[in-house]
Amino acid sequence: MSRSSNVVVIGGGVIGCAVAYYVARRGLKVTLVDRPKRGRATSASAGGLWPLGESVGLGCGVIFYKALAGMGTLPEGVHGPGQLPRVFLDFALRSNGMFPALAEDLREISGMEIEWERTSLLFLMYDEGDVAFAKPLWERCPCGRDLTEWMTPEELAKAEPAVTREVHGALRFHGDDQVNPYRLADSFRAAARNLGAAILTHTEVTGLRVESGRMTAVETQAGPIPCGMVVNAAGAWAPEVGRMVGLDIPVRPVRGQILGTETLPEMLSACLTTTDCYLAQKGHGEVIIGSTTEEVGFDVGTTPAAMKTLAAGAIRALPFLRDVRVKRVWSGLRPGSPDELPILGPVEGLDGYLNACGHFRTGILNAPLTGLLIAELASGERPSVPVEPFLLARFASAGDGRQVVTIG
Ligand SMILES: Cc1cc2nc3c(=O)[nH]c(=O)nc-3n(C[C@H](O)[C@H](O)[C@H](O)COP(=O)(O)OP(=O)(O)OC[C@H]3O[C@@H](n4cnc5c(N)ncnc54)[C@H](O)[C@@H]3O)c2cc1C
Repeated sequence: MSRSSNVVVIGGGVIGCAVAYYVARRGLKVTLVDRPKRGRATSASAGGLWPLGESVGLGCGVIFYKALAGMGTLPEGVHGPGQLPRVFLDFALRSNGMFPALAEDLREISGMEIEWERTSLLFLMYDEGDVAFAKPLWERCPCGRDLTEWMTPEELAKAEPAVTREVHGALRFHGDDQVNPYRLADSFRAAARNLGAAILTHTEVTGLRVESGRMTAVETQAGPIPCGMVVNAAGAWAPEVGRMVGLDIPVRPVRGQILGTETLPEMLSACLTTTDCYLAQKGHGEVIIGSTTEEVGFDVGTTPAAMKTLAAGAIRALPFLRDVRVKRVWSGLRPGSPDELPILGPVEGLDGYLNACGHFRTGILNAPLTGLLIAELASGERPSVPVEPFLLARFASAGDGRQVVTIG
């Protein structure tokens, strides 16, 4: 098979699909190649769009961070989220701001609803320890007080009657929204196809061809695809693709276990985080309860211990869940990067290659802006946001020996 293509996108998770969509919108010829691997992250996600909560350090990862921080130090090799830099917040806020118009565009082009919902994120504080933990994070938050709200227990009870009364209050992040992550990816893919993209499903990329420092083709199980531009959007498998051209990409799988309840009447207007778990009720009524942050390689199993901990945390936040049935449990592999920022853009000495990987816990949130940025770079347009903070080269210059970029 030989399908000449301007741009080949490797990986059909939310990032690859977003890239294919924005590239196709520019009228470029694009082929998306995906071999669905067990544990791919997009189909495991909760769909939280939490730029503020994640930036402040009170989003998904707070659960284990607080437990580990309480032990004094984070043991070596154990990942714990902290406050993310301003550059992350700016990127994430901008990406989140794209969703309302995107939902309309995708509805029109793909005919699908992504179930984008304007809501907010509430960090529940159960005791003085939680208050002492959250307050300095909140005070250092660069997002400004108008986007956050410190709520008394009475205010919380009024806003969210289903939440436990055993709280010292809550911190609300206004504008932290949610979406249906599967529908988002499916809709990007369908829209890209309707705009002319070729989608090769169940097709593994097995090699990359480089001639005189320039990408010339992607080798797949179905044959080579000649191209001038390659986008590595292979999620937790991005290092494998990088190695095909001699790159050392510091992405690792970080497992998240998660569970979902049976369909319930509307109980929550906001999403919740606590030091035990986070909870998000989706449009169809299921309450998603996430999630662990585990360094177990490519193991995509689920464990009774994690389910028990998550379920206990969920019941503590929402006591009515005690009598509710669990419908499904699953896990996925986040594409973790050392500094929690995505790895985006070109690599020196390798013309026609772009990274779009390492999105860790925020790939759903950051998919729209990543897709747009990569499409702009692929088509030679001036990028609408600076790519420099996200380049792979930042690890080579980190000076701490974490990762060194080598181009073979
Ligand atoms: C439990 C859990 C909850 C999460 N919750 C949220 C959340 O609430 N909000 C949020 O923003 N993010 C969340 N995330 C993170 C988010 O899901 C990821 O950041 C995002 O899905 C990454 O998308 P991706 O396209 O890079 O990777 P993936 O979705 O993993 O896609 C990569 C694709 O590339 C394919 N591939 C790999 N190698 C090859 C090859 N050689 N050839 C062809 N195809 C290949 C894979 O099979 C896969 O289909 C969560 C993640 C987990 C695990």
